[in-house]
Amino acid sequence: MSGIAIITEACIDVKDKACVDVCPVQCIYEYDPAKGILFSEVEAGNGEIENQHAPSPDAIAIFEDAVLYVNTEECTSCTACYQPDVCPVGAIYTEELVPDGSEKSKYNANDPNKGHDHTFFVQHSRDVFAD
Ligand code: SF4
Ligand code: SF4
Repeated sequence: MSGIAIITEACIDVKDKACVDVCPVQCIYEYDPAKGILFSEVEAGNGEIENQHAPSPDAIAIFEDAVLYVNTEECTSCTACYQPDVCPVGAIYTEELVPDGSEKSKYNANDPNKGHDHTFFVQHSRDVFAD
């Protein structure tokens, strides 16, 4: 499927969950280190867990709970979370348009990491879900 959302490095330590509030299928996950689960909420901060998954230990160890993760198997490519007015730091790209740092790369206006290669996050988004 094209148009799957990928969260990249600008989300690290920001995690304001604006994307969670607009996702209609609750496929954007937070990691709870105490419980060792990835969980998604119906609405950011409402405490109502909609889905949960087991994380892959090696993949989750890289950023742990510093960033949010889109489950690419559940994302319906609805486009809501990567509209320009949603993520305050421009962290979300469609999979096909994740910038690789080359001259042809196009970055979101608010992405503070312009020029960086974000393609690591395409595979990492998949690797982090163990089930
Ligand atoms: S809106 Fe952006 S910064 Fe906020 S949690 Fe989502 S990806 Fe991270
Ligand atoms: S594109 Fe739609 S379904 Fe996919 S993560 Fe964003 S809001 Fe959720």
